[in-house]
Amino acid sequence: MRKRKDNMSNSHTDTDVILIGAGIMSATLGSLLQELAPDWNISVFERLEKSGKESSNEWNNAGTGHSALCELNYTPEQSDGSIDVTKAININEKFQLSKQFWSYLVQKRKLTNPNEFIMPLPHMSFVQGKNNVDFLRKRFESLKENPLFEGMEFSDDPQTLEEWIPVMMNQRDQHEPIAATKIDTGTDVNFGALTRKLFDHLHQQNNVAIHYKHQVDDLQRTSEGNWRVKVRDLDSGNVKQQTAKFVFIGAGGGSLHLLQKSGIPEGKQIGGFPVSGLFMVCKNEDVVAQHEAKVYGKAKVGAPPMSVPHLDTRYIDQQKSLLFGPFAGFSPKFLKSGSMLDLLSSVKPNNLTTMLAAGAKNMPLTRYLIGQVLLSKEKRMEELREFIPDARSEDWDIVVAGQRVQVIKDTDSGGKGTLQFGTEVVSSDDGSISALLGASPGASTAVSVMLEVIEKCFPQQLDEWKPKIKEIIPSYGEHLHRNPELFEDIDQTTANTLGLKLAYKEAEEKDENHAYKQA
Ligand SMILES: Cc1cc2nc3c(=O)[nH]c(=O)nc-3n(C[C@H](O)[C@H](O)[C@H](O)COP(=O)(O)OP(=O)(O)OC[C@H]3O[C@@H](n4cnc5c(N)ncnc54)[C@H](O)[C@@H]3O)c2cc1C
Repeated sequence: MRKRKDNMSNSHTDTDVILIGAGIMSATLGSLLQELAPDWNISVFERLEKSGKESSNEWNNAGTGHSALCELNYTPEQSDGSIDVTKAININEKFQLSKQFWSYLVQKRKLTNPNEFIMPLPHMSFVQGKNNVDFLRKRFESLKENPLFEGMEFSDDPQTLEEWIPVMMNQRDQHEPIAATKIDTGTDVNFGALTRKLFDHLHQQNNVAIHYKHQVDDLQRTSEGNWRVKVRDLDSGNVKQQTAKFVFIGAGGGSLHLLQKSGIPEGKQIGGFPVSGLFMVCKNEDVVAQHEAKVYGKAKVGAPPMSVPHLDTRYIDQQKSLLFGPFAGFSPKFLKSGSMLDLLSSVKPNNLTTMLAAGAKNMPLTRYLIGQVLLSKEKRMEELREFIPDARSEDWDIVVAGQRVQVIKDTDSGGKGTLQFGTEVVSSDDGSISALLGASPGASTAVSVMLEVIEKCFPQQLDEWKPKIKEIIPSYGEHLHRNPELFEDIDQTTANTLGLKLAYKEAEEKDENHAYKQA
């Protein structure tokens, strides 16, 4: 294949791979392909002026390295009272793939200063009320022997909780039973910084061309089975076309519209349900300094999983901050920078009945989300006070988070118009185009999801690529929870390479002028 940097100076060019959107998903797929097929030409088109400005931006998502260490919705209680840990193990294993890929890139000096995008941070679950305490204890018992969850602690002792989460115990009513679990191997991930770093590295490659302020308006299959993509330069208004053998639609909330334009049968009968978000950000440095964890609660009965606010220490722009949220809400936009017509224009003849069925089924959810949008700041403070009983309104500001677009489709188990809460890859039968839809667990599982795209879309190359994939990601194809020695080995290596040994705490103790001193 040719080695050239495409500058789009002609009205029609061709390439091997087109990535639509410069978020974490395209960044991950581009970086993986760059390792596996370094001589392929890759073009990236992004409508905004920089990478990682939509959902992948650090202020638009919660930055949790989702490993099911604290997220209670990944361990549902069964009707017989037992805890199903299948999803928790699955998500944890997926995050291990991400850490291995990032660690490989750091070792090869393709990513630098890992603590600018990943920091060690205890992950905790916190519950109130006897039933919830019983649930948390059972969850702990079900996970504690599993190597992936080694080191998890449970406590319902107020004194221990005081040590773990002092800011949450101040002025707390001690009559109600409370409990928490804590595990120190959690992380806070700045997906925005990671996305920018990955694109910075891709940008330096001769065979990768990144076009910002270029919006993909349409795409069509050619008679040769390739894809012709129509791109608009948002500065000049000029429209150009580029043809590629493979297209990845990594446009976040914009993916559904582009998938519909592709016309592939796999994209029919699929709809999108937008969910907006808000964070509360603490302005009081004393409060910020007292907390050092991500603390997830339990969803209220009837509330959707994405509406469980959590109290998170975050490391953004080399400053420690404290965020509470995201509060879910409703907006018809599919991207934060999108249009109020996004939802309406996504309704097509082929997904109309699916959308109508979903609309009828999800009226309570829609009402709940609209109710959330209308909450006053004081009402939000009341939710925050379940975590920080003495939280003061003047210490907290509200910031708008990213948009999620949940997939709606017909399923065997849920019937017509079922709302999905996961991340979904939709690919054409011949593997020439693939789109990423959905949200949670999202960015944390980017490597696993992009490996899925590679397996589906490049079957002819896969055998040749497998040894390289194994070199990059030693646990590829293995179940780490069944292989404790391999897990320990990988855990040590990634923790060392990515600086996850609580390095900043050690530096603090030595009173060094470390990067993460609170501003
Ligand atoms: C409130 C919230 C909290 C979250 N919390 C977490 C978390 O704690 N942990 C976690 O792992 N995940 C979390 N997620 C999910 C995670 O943020 C997403 O899964 C991930 O960022 C999606 O990445 P992406 O690359 O697919 O999309 P994006 O980052 O949205 O990137 C898509 C890009 O495509 C561009 N684009 C769109 N249309 C076009 C077009 N037509 N032409 C050209 N470019 C286009 C957009 O401008 C954008 O830059 C959260 C999401 C939200 C909204």
